[in-house]
Amino acid sequence: MQKITVEEIDAIYAQQVANTWQVKQTSIAQRTTWLGSLKQIIRIKEEEIKAAIYKDFRKSPIETETTEILASLLEIDLFIKNLKRWAKPKSVNSSLLFASTKAKLHYEPKGNTLIITPWNYPFQLPIVHLVASIAAGNTVILKLSESTPHINAVINDIISNLFERKHVAVMVGEVEETTHLLSLKFDHIHFTGSPNVGKIIMAAAAKNLSAVTLELGGKSPAFIDKSVNLRETVKNIIWAKFVNMGQTCIAPDYLLIDKNIAADFEKTIRQEILSAFGTSAISSTDLARIINEKQYDRLASYVENLEASSAEWIVKGENYRDQLFIHPMVVKNMPMNSPIMQDEIFGPILPIIYYERLQDALEIVARKEKPLALYIFSKDKQYQDRVLQHTTAGGTTINDAMIHIIHPALPFGGVNNSGIGQSLGIYGFKTFSHERAVLEAKYFPMSKMFWYPYTSRTEQVLS
Ligand code: NAD
Repeated sequence: MQKITVEEIDAIYAQQVANTWQVKQTSIAQRTTWLGSLKQIIRIKEEEIKAAIYKDFRKSPIETETTEILASLLEIDLFIKNLKRWAKPKSVNSSLLFASTKAKLHYEPKGNTLIITPWNYPFQLPIVHLVASIAAGNTVILKLSESTPHINAVINDIISNLFERKHVAVMVGEVEETTHLLSLKFDHIHFTGSPNVGKIIMAAAAKNLSAVTLELGGKSPAFIDKSVNLRETVKNIIWAKFVNMGQTCIAPDYLLIDKNIAADFEKTIRQEILSAFGTSAISSTDLARIINEKQYDRLASYVENLEASSAEWIVKGENYRDQLFIHPMVVKNMPMNSPIMQDEIFGPILPIIYYERLQDALEIVARKEKPLALYIFSKDKQYQDRVLQHTTAGGTTINDAMIHIIHPALPFGGVNNSGIGQSLGIYGFKTFSHERAVLEAKYFPMSKMFWYPYTSRTEQVLS
């Protein structure tokens, strides 16, 4: 897929603006039909999707099946099943004062929307946010990441077969083109990516007072209490941390573990990493690759920095730049000011902090930016409650990791540095809709009691 030019962006944008009213008028039945067709094409193209993502970063076809295709299909099904109900005007409770009125919430399409997505889940993320915006009745410019050319071509193929460009247009661009896109006036900008770029998006949106949703990232901690089934917890963490080669926004970034189980934890995680990826992890077909040299070098610099520090490796292996392969690693005793404890890791390196008092672990988390996700592994209800009450996060799963993102009735989003706004399911539908307050005076204007002249009215009301 070719990089878009500024002139092409302007032409597509103008077509979409001219087409906004027509798209806004589309019926829920028509939008549901589009979603059904999208689902059908995805099913037909499953193998093509798997092959394309494999070419982009060697992601296992089984992982693509679950984390990209299934995740997209579940979201489409949720919309197909519920869109009619979600889009229906909703009556709201009234009070005695408003007894003569009827109050409702109407869901209007926002209009022209821009969706910008990253490279790490290069099929699922564009599709799920696109589904919400189409379902809400908007035009969409979908700006994909430049780092995943193969899957971008498949997405473009799917979308351009289903939609006219004046309704949905797929684009690939780098900073220059995206900066131009951001200078245009959109009714809503939905961005998924890093907090640093999120700030650029928000500043650009402010110039046009465009509504904005930011799905960002950060350091998501996992608390592990001594009460857990250790082997099950370790297997759970290994999957959550190393799926997609650690390049997941809600992956556990670092672990906070009760010191009493330190020795058992280390023994178990060594055994389980070996059992998951074998003696030669690079030969494992389950491990994806780092997306590009830039990301590889960033991760390799963490390793270099750790080697020059007090850090001790619990699990380590060889890294290969020419194959963009970083071995799954577990490390402890790293200095708290080392880059790996400051930046979002976004790769297969797992730092461990042992705590003697839970309070110390809570303070470590409190000193950092608010995370996108936080995990609690404990059978002890008091422990779970204490962690929940003394922390904040976009979302939390207790005694499991990451699956809160696919729950059909829970919102997905961050807090401040990890994101602003909510996505997925009904929350995604609402994000891309304007929730309009509509009040009807059924029998007489209720404002009558406030009309001029004030004096006589006040006397009447008071008498
Ligand atoms: P990124 O912020 O570098 O890029 C995201 C998008 O922004 C891409 O389309 C890119 O082309 C564009 N972009 C980059 N620089 C830009 C600029 N200066 N101006 C305008 N646009 C620009 O992020 P990434 O490296 O692609 O993805 C990794 C980040 O995304 C991590 O922080 C991760 O946590 C986050 N993420 C969040 C979620 C979520 O749902 N919250 C999901 C996946 C990834």
